Amino acid sequence: MYRLDILPLNKWLGHYELPFIVSGPCSAESEQQLLDTAKALANISNVKVFRAGIWKPRTHPKTFEGVGIKGLKWLKSVKKETGLLTAVEVATPKHVEECLRNKVDILWIGARTSVNPFSVQEICSVLKGTDIPVMVKNPVNPDVQLWLGALERINQAGIKKLIAIHRGFFSFKKNLYRNNPLWEIPVELKRLCPDLPVICDPSHICGNKELLLDVSQKALDTGMDGLMIESHINPDIALTDTKQQITPQQLSELIYKLKVHKALGNVNSEDKLKKLRNLIDKLDNELLNIVSERMKVSEKIGRYKNNNNIAIYQKQRWNKMIRNNLIIGNKFGLNKDFLSKFFALIHKESIQRQKNNKTEMKKI
Ligand code: PEP
Ligand code: MN
Repeated sequence: MYRLDILPLNKWLGHYELPFIVSGPCSAESEQQLLDTAKALANISNVKVFRAGIWKPRTHPKTFEGVGIKGLKWLKSVKKETGLLTAVEVATPKHVEECLRNKVDILWIGARTSVNPFSVQEICSVLKGTDIPVMVKNPVNPDVQLWLGALERINQAGIKKLIAIHRGFFSFKKNLYRNNPLWEIPVELKRLCPDLPVICDPSHICGNKELLLDVSQKALDTGMDGLMIESHINPDIALTDTKQQITPQQLSELIYKLKVHKALGNVNSEDKLKKLRNLIDKLDNELLNIVSERMKVSEKIGRYKNNNNIAIYQKQRWNKMIRNNLIIGNKFGLNKDFLSKFFALIHKESIQRQKNNKTEMKKI
């Protein structure tokens, strides 16, 4: 398995507050729109990076497909005037070359590009030899390996400043969200790559302003380091994603309402957590030991049944055992439904072992 070689966020992003925020319009529309939005965002201390789409992946042709290269000059003014880092979506090697030439600070790969290994590989060919940070949105379809694969390719091209962005997944079933969050997927990515910073893009998950706070909070509760939220100085007249963009003022109110968890840097809480986890590991060890001992006894019973021609499954015995264990387990504060499932699993495995044992004996 390929392991990602990641440079931690605090080694390259400079000082940032948690959650660190990437914000800016869905699309760059004019220099004035960018400057007005960016100046207002620069007053929000969590906002570290200014985003703007220059080349827009649109469903239909002849819709607004972005302002193109001239937007990169506007981003230079944004950086000069506000000191914010700038980020642009790239989908082709040419996009990357233009961004590098115009000193864009961070690139991001969109969901329609990360889904295609050929496109990602082509982009990698121009990333090689640079150390520009790259953020990788999850692919449109819910496949953690495809997301990981895109990150691996970029990492193999030498990029260690990586961030994954969870922006939700396409679903045929229409629900509350524009893109279904499926939180288990970014959580699994984090399990596979513990060093990889993962942030959330609630704007593209929600598709509207109303759910933004809820989804942002959920992202922080899931342990994400930051948020990418689309903002526009006048969302009502935005040329793309009108319904989901908020004003910088609304962003500032949203951040204020978020409950931010203590950074894991807090030594006391980290120590306490470590101790509790050690205790859990120890108990799990004991649990495994006991289950293994129980299976050995169960196999002995199996041999006895076989030698004495007794049927393996004894309904009465099973009923009595589960009844007793439910009563006892309940006294220990364990839930009945959990106990039934737990013992059904143990019993199933015991029976299976006794059956295996019987076929082994026949062979002999
Ligand atoms: C965007 O960030 O504006 C965008 C196009 O996002 P996604 O790739 O998540 O659809
Ligand atoms: Mn958008």
